[in-house]
Amino acid sequence: MSTPKREETANHAGLTGLPGTSGLPALRAAVIQVEQLCAVEDPAGPLEACAAILQAQAHGRPALEARVRLAYAWGLVEQRPSEARVQIDAAAKQAKIAGDAGLQAHAQCLSGRLAVGQSDAPTTLRCGHQALKLAQAAAVTEHIVHAHSLIGIAHLLVGDHARALVHQEEVLRHLEAVQSPSLKTVLLCDVGASFNDFGTPDDARTFLERALTLVHTHALHFSSILVRENLGRTLLQLGEHAAGTALLQEGLTRAVAGGYTRWEAYIRCTLGEHLVMQGHVDEGYAHLQQAVAASRKGEDPLLTSVTLSTLGRALRHLGQLEKAQVYLRDALRVAQEAALLGPCKLAHQELSGVLAQRQEYRAALQHFQQYHELAMKVQLEESRRHAQLLVLQQDLDREREQSEAQRRVNRELREAHARMQEQAAQLSRLANEDPLTGLANRRQFLSQLAESLTGDQAVAVMLVDVDHFKRINDKYGHPAGDQVLRRLGQILQQHTRVKDVVARIGGEEFAVLLKGTLAAAARTTAERMRAAVAQEAWPILTEGEAVTVSVGVAHSEDGRDERQLMVLGDRRLYRAKHQGRNQVV
Ligand code: GH3
Ligand code: MG
Ligand code: MG
Repeated sequence: MSTPKREETANHAGLTGLPGTSGLPALRAAVIQVEQLCAVEDPAGPLEACAAILQAQAHGRPALEARVRLAYAWGLVEQRPSEARVQIDAAAKQAKIAGDAGLQAHAQCLSGRLAVGQSDAPTTLRCGHQALKLAQAAAVTEHIVHAHSLIGIAHLLVGDHARALVHQEEVLRHLEAVQSPSLKTVLLCDVGASFNDFGTPDDARTFLERALTLVHTHALHFSSILVRENLGRTLLQLGEHAAGTALLQEGLTRAVAGGYTRWEAYIRCTLGEHLVMQGHVDEGYAHLQQAVAASRKGEDPLLTSVTLSTLGRALRHLGQLEKAQVYLRDALRVAQEAALLGPCKLAHQELSGVLAQRQEYRAALQHFQQYHELAMKVQLEESRRHAQLLVLQQDLDREREQSEAQRRVNRELREAHARMQEQAAQLSRLANEDPLTGLANRRQFLSQLAESLTGDQAVAVMLVDVDHFKRINDKYGHPAGDQVLRRLGQILQQHTRVKDVVARIGGEEFAVLLKGTLAAAARTTAERMRAAVAQEAWPILTEGEAVTVSVGVAHSEDGRDERQLMVLGDRRLYRAKHQGRNQVV
């Protein structure tokens, strides 16, 4: 990341101004910049994150605030987990306020990461599954992949390789969709560590070397330590001592420079023991001693006790039994104080070996008995944890099945509802529509007429009957008659407004309802309709042959009862027929 760009971001983020002065677009730019810096582990990221958080708060943008906090927390997870916890919780809260499932998934992923750091399998699994559900809902591949990785690690922590493998395969399938180089590297390390655990260090090496390339390409800061530690250890397992040692040395230099004391302790421990075993006694011993010092600084009793035991084991290997005994007793004390079963077991085992070598058989036996008891306890504890995890997994599976079943039921209900609505609409059409012309039917016409008469608007009713229609049917056939009826409906509609109603109320009888129309205007409209019909050219009839209609008009001035109006209209229609047809009465 170039320096000018960084300065630009500092301005965006409001480092130089008061919150609220740089506006929303500047805030958005600042958030994106923080995310990009954190994705390549640039030390400027955290600095600018703090300013952007304040800005997001000042603007009252929960989603943007959550994004910055999560980007920031990613850099804290390894070195300052308790601070990371605070940021993740705050981000989760804002993500919930914003109703953003993707951001909530991200927060769950980071919580899962913290649980991994504490080897807490149930929490890792729970966070992983929560994250997976949310990320799938929000369709964010990056978090889906991260969630699978966490679930895989949870299963590894209790030795369930088969389940772990399923999830690691998911990670590999979608890895290319992960944008953040830092996350991609960490995920590759997760996969590498898994394959080491599955007993295939060659596979592990492939992925860790890919991770190392990413570290180089993006000049990643923390990941350069993580990858070197993992790959170094893998190479030692593969018997490539020189390359493995060199990588661990490089990782160590960076861990010391960056103040990553936990990682310093890890690396010195691995390196020290390896060097002692290889005969580089002084160098190895120095590393182990420094590992103890670093682990004590980290206030991590588990790491301290294991490191002390490693030192004791190395001294025993060198034949310095008295010194070994001192360190191993120390390891035992630290482990006992923190009630750590595994490290206690390890210290007892080593002590028993040292004491036997010193021919102090009674004491050796005592430690061996303690070791044996603890070994059984540890095994019991492990199977209990495994069982717990299985139960948890089953619950999660069941929950997922239930929600899938629920989704299926919902979909079926939705479809059934849509079908019912369609059927209801169809029924309503059948009840109110004339199928031949698509006009209103008699039922619909009468109901509209009654409704129009409830107010005090002027209403006109026209009853229209085709003259000598039987002849048309007889001469041209019923289908031609139908066509004439359809066209007549269109002509009538062309002479009415949207609010009026045109209906086919019988075989060749139509009715028109004109709303808000005075008697004289209604008569004019009726006359215009009649004329239009008479002047229509009919391609299906012999040339020159006309179709005419007779019309009876009744008006609300004559009375406001719909039955009366219909009878009156009919009587006038009858009169029109009687007077020679093709006329309005
Ligand atoms: P006028 O009204 O002028 O006295 O003579 P008209 O021939 O039109 O009289 P009438 O009411 O006796 O005949 C109506 C005819 O309409 C009888 C029937 O066959 C025909 N008809 C009724 N419904 C339909 C239909 O849906 N399609 C067709 N093509 N003809 C129909
Ligand atoms: Mg008739
Ligand atoms: Mg007729």
